[in-house]
Amino acid sequence: MHHFTYRDGALHCEDVPLAAIAAAVGTPVYVYSTATLTRHWTVFTGALKDAGLDASVHFATKANGNMAVLRTLADLGAGADVVSGGELFAAMHAGIPASRIVFSGVGKTRDELAYALDQGVFQINVESEPELRLLDAVAREKGVQAPIAIRVNPDVEAGTHEKITTGKLDNKFGIAWTQAHALYRLAADLPGIAVKAIAMHIGSQIADLAPFAAAFRRMRDLLAILRADGIEIERLDIGGGLGVPYDREGDPTPMPPADYAKVIRQELGDLGCKLLLEPGRLITANAGVLLTKVIYRKEGATRTFVIVDAGMNDLVRPAMYDAFHAIAPVREPAAGAATELVDVVGPICESSDIFAKQRSLPRLEADDLLVLRTAGAYGAAMSNSYNGRPLVPEVLVNGDQYAVVRRRPTWEELVTLESLAPWQG
Ligand SMILES: *Cc1c(COP(=O)(O)O)cnc(C)c1O
Repeated sequence: MHHFTYRDGALHCEDVPLAAIAAAVGTPVYVYSTATLTRHWTVFTGALKDAGLDASVHFATKANGNMAVLRTLADLGAGADVVSGGELFAAMHAGIPASRIVFSGVGKTRDELAYALDQGVFQINVESEPELRLLDAVAREKGVQAPIAIRVNPDVEAGTHEKITTGKLDNKFGIAWTQAHALYRLAADLPGIAVKAIAMHIGSQIADLAPFAAAFRRMRDLLAILRADGIEIERLDIGGGLGVPYDREGDPTPMPPADYAKVIRQELGDLGCKLLLEPGRLITANAGVLLTKVIYRKEGATRTFVIVDAGMNDLVRPAMYDAFHAIAPVREPAAGAATELVDVVGPICESSDIFAKQRSLPRLEADDLLVLRTAGAYGAAMSNSYNGRPLVPEVLVNGDQYAVVRRRPTWEELVTLESLAPWQG
């Protein structure tokens, strides 16, 4: 469910025509819907509540770190899951208190760990023995105890794209579940460490309940082993990873949050532990579109190219993950209008700068506006300035209002961080 629909022949975000945003802000631009963010948050947390689960939800800010998006979620009570010192800073800057922030990530530095302890984060999810020992040392220097989970790799096949699978033994993430007990034993004996939780996160865009259920069972088994060894565990952090519909024909339909909540209750509901969840994509993906304009229609030797002003630097998912994004014209096509097969491509000098190959679309001409749907997660967050392109701006819509919540940098700003070497005069 989202709030990007046609009204009177024009695609709107809530009550705002996207053409009006394109005219005022220019393209390419990301547009987010407050009503959609709110709805996804409410449906997800409501499903957990309806299942009777004692759970807190920590939005994975790497999916969408825009301050206004984070504030929207913070106002709904969201915590955050962050994966760097910079994300921790940004989440707090947006109004999410450190006491609701989980710090994840496979390569946290000493400085990042020290910063997280200074801020008083809720939990640090440790991913290796050297990290555990470093965190212990840093915490003791500060005279505090670091509240931790150990991220355990349950060795389950998540059935998703290989670049977003994280829960197999040959992935770099987490501690092999067979080694977890020994590391918990060590953690329990370190004076700078306070063991609080077990954490898992098995991948992203998972459409099926079976991998989650398998991982939860591993978690349950580990909990029993730790308890038998006298190691207290108060909470279980089950990560994110829930898939969203990208509307490609033949794709499996992701499970509804209520079904997910039911499996959590079945597998983990009777253990006396508080639950932590870290959804990212599920909350923001469908709440955003990338609005772009056709620059040229180019008749190639074998196919027609629709060249748009957004590129893989603005939205890298198709190039990086072979991801599918539905594409829709902002002007509603007449019922029964003819369609043609075209390649929708960006202006970047890379062969992989392709948004869609042989996509069926109504005839498009220069200056026509398009949206790439379901772009609110891992879209702007992964954007960059490759090819000398200023970072794509972001707009937040709320009812009939909209605001630019990250402006487009100028060309001047593209070069302001750079300087000549002293010998260059
Ligand atoms: C990326 C990530 C998430 C969020 O994943 P989604 O697929 O966006 O829900 C949650 N937890 C951790 C540790 C992550 O790295």
